[in-house]
Amino acid sequence: LTKLRRGLEETRKGFVTELLDKLGDDPLTPEALDDLETLLIRADVGIDSTDKVISSLRTKLNEEVLGAEAGIKFLKKELKLIIDKPIKSSGTDLLVPQKGKLNVWLLVGVNGVGKTTTLGKLAYLSSKSNYKTLIAAADTFRAAAVEQLKVWGDRSNVEVISNQSKNADPAAVVFDAINSAKKRNVDLLLVDTAGRLQTKNNLMDELAKIKKIIDRKVPDAIVESLLVLDASQGQNGLKQAKSFAKSADLSGAIITKLDGTSRGGVSLAVSEEVNLPIRFIGAGEGIKDLRPFNSYEFVEAMLA
Ligand code: GDP
Repeated sequence: LTKLRRGLEETRKGFVTELLDKLGDDPLTPEALDDLETLLIRADVGIDSTDKVISSLRTKLNEEVLGAEAGIKFLKKELKLIIDKPIKSSGTDLLVPQKGKLNVWLLVGVNGVGKTTTLGKLAYLSSKSNYKTLIAAADTFRAAAVEQLKVWGDRSNVEVISNQSKNADPAAVVFDAINSAKKRNVDLLLVDTAGRLQTKNNLMDELAKIKKIIDRKVPDAIVESLLVLDASQGQNGLKQAKSFAKSADLSGAIITKLDGTSRGGVSLAVSEEVNLPIRFIGAGEGIKDLRPFNSYEFVEAMLA
């Protein structure tokens, strides 16, 4: 949490402090709204979400006089509504494996966003919470990914199912992993996929194939497709989310690298424009640096 705060503080520095210093407790003026708008855009909250919250604030100001602090409070509430909307419509506030079923979480994302690291952290979180956990190294495209996953697996005592042969079929790895999972009564199978934007159709085919295998072998499995996004990539992350959402049936997002960025606002853009519930946030390279997403905590940290 401290790391998240520290990261988001960067947002805050150019944000609330600056604004409050400037305005004191004078009533908010149209110019102050322009400043707020700029600050939100700068934090990567995205045009749509920014327009939405600023126009709500404008409407509110037509009804009553608000000082800067009350204005920020109102904004926080509005931003939280945006982030909460896809979470509410998903039916679960907190993504946890359902006991008694096989839960399969597929992680997709562009290279470098922190997909493998996140999978390692999820394995740790899950096994620490006493869910029997297994990893499927189905990113067979990137040779180093398997080795990297084995290191993470060792750290949390979670076995990694892989196929070392060159260009192994990802679906075949998942097939083996499902067999193991069934044998061992696994609660959560974490699948690393080679989600690449350059090969959109392949990605769609690959995910569809993986889902078909899961469905055939374990019809009542609970499958989540989670897109991993790097907060420090800002609007580029939003672009990735839109592109992935077009080619794959996603059910949520994980935002990484919130520890060193002022661009945490991309979480809002992804909620508003791609309608994806944010499920976890990563704030550091260590195994413990992953937290379930909490919109209240997030908005408070961003606009503290
Ligand atoms: P992948 O290519 O998407 O699988 O990305 P990796 O998991 O290999 O991560 C790429 C780099 O980002 C590595 O150096 C990780 O240590 C780093 N990384 C991943 N998540 C975080 C995070 O939350 N915070 C920071 N600071 N670095 C991270």
